[in-house]
Amino acid sequence: MNASGLSPEQVKLQARVRELAAGPVAARAAEVDRTEQYPWDNVELLKDAKLLGMTIPQQYGGQGKNWLDAVLVIEALSATCSVTGRIAVETNMGAISAVMAYGSEEQKKLAADMVLAGDKPAICITEPEAGSDAGGMTTRADKKGNRYVINGRKHWITGGGVSRLHLIFAKVFDEQGNEEGIGGFLAIRDETKGLRITKREPTMGLRGIPEAVIDFEDMDVPPSSLVIPPRGLKKGFADLMTAYNSQRVGAATVALGIAEGAYQLALDWSEKRHQFGRPINEFQGLQWKLADMSIKLAAAQALVYGAARSGEGGFPDMLLAAQAKVFTSENAIQVVNDALQFFGARGYSRELPLERMARDVRMFTIGGGTAEVLRNVVAGQLLKKKLPQTRDGWAKA
Ligand SMILES: Cc1cc2nc3c(=O)[nH]c(=O)nc-3n(C[C@H](O)[C@H](O)[C@H](O)COP(=O)(O)OP(=O)(O)OC[C@H]3O[C@@H](n4cnc5c(N)ncnc54)[C@H](O)[C@@H]3O)c2cc1C
Repeated sequence: MNASGLSPEQVKLQARVRELAAGPVAARAAEVDRTEQYPWDNVELLKDAKLLGMTIPQQYGGQGKNWLDAVLVIEALSATCSVTGRIAVETNMGAISAVMAYGSEEQKKLAADMVLAGDKPAICITEPEAGSDAGGMTTRADKKGNRYVINGRKHWITGGGVSRLHLIFAKVFDEQGNEEGIGGFLAIRDETKGLRITKREPTMGLRGIPEAVIDFEDMDVPPSSLVIPPRGLKKGFADLMTAYNSQRVGAATVALGIAEGAYQLALDWSEKRHQFGRPINEFQGLQWKLADMSIKLAAAQALVYGAARSGEGGFPDMLLAAQAKVFTSENAIQVVNDALQFFGARGYSRELPLERMARDVRMFTIGGGTAEVLRNVVAGQLLKKKLPQTRDGWAKA
């Protein structure tokens, strides 16, 4: 065990991924941002390095790694390329972990094979009129004979247009038109008729992964595509949220990695850059800034690692995942902003990565549950009490 409580294998994994991140991944990061092209070459790199689908159990071709292993990989990659870090999130957490937890044998094999071959699954929850209030979704799946027919619109779907496997959440209705609750269905782009990518969002940052509007028009799927039944294990929506705790830890990790990368750049620059005849790190104003940045990062890392560890044998704890995401996403924005300041005018230039990092890191208080809604989750977990600011009074998002 070392200071962060990592095993020798984890330290080795971390060192291996840091090398990859500092080498080929860093070399492509600016271009990925500028061209807004999904980095398929980095997907191949991750695949060759066995970093895709690491959390998939061995009997489905994965390595059965734990959440902390995935976190170490995501953290290291995100320090140089947040888009590649996000690919590691979505091939190890979120949709894939929901399928591996709740799917049938057939669904697990399908999803595992696709991810291990390089597909980053998309998770489709958010709609134009149902964001934080995901339970208010209007996409519907109507049972018609031995099929479900899905209609509706999702937006801000990460990977829309590059992902093939989609996990789509919809309100399920029986043949008589009675609502059964929210369920999750699998569909494959270009194979399942009625799934159409209709717009790419012009995003502020994280430009190498498309965010898309997806329309479902009479999308016809068999009952065997239902992964999370509306009245399943706990109840469709609750199962979704349990699985989503892994994605939240992953999102917090990307923010942490970006901020650590920016901090390291500022630390190095503060020694190289001289003004008034000495390195700028000899000014106390900047020393205290460095100290504060390092404290925020250490605290964020402890929260993220703690949340990841809480998921041993299941999914990360909802309270710990929400605490980690709120703290890390907000502090990462501040750390990156401070790091940019160390570079003066150079920090504002597109020739350095700081401005890209500042755009990329801004997302993490929004996607995967906003900082406000996650504070509701934290409060709901602490108070064990109905909170009127959610649809049914419970902070369950
Ligand atoms: C880059 C990116 C990637 C994304 N990827 C995906 C994806 O792959 N799949 C997917 O399904 N979705 C995805 N999303 C959508 C994301 O989950 C939503 O944007 C998020 O849940 C917020 O919803 P909204 O944007 O509609 O904001 P709104 O819900 O309209 O919220 C607006 C504001 O009101 C605040 N607010 C709302 N309700 C409350 C409350 N009860 N208490 C206090 N404040 C409140 C919010 O915090 C926010 O500040 C992504 C978003 C982004 C930016």
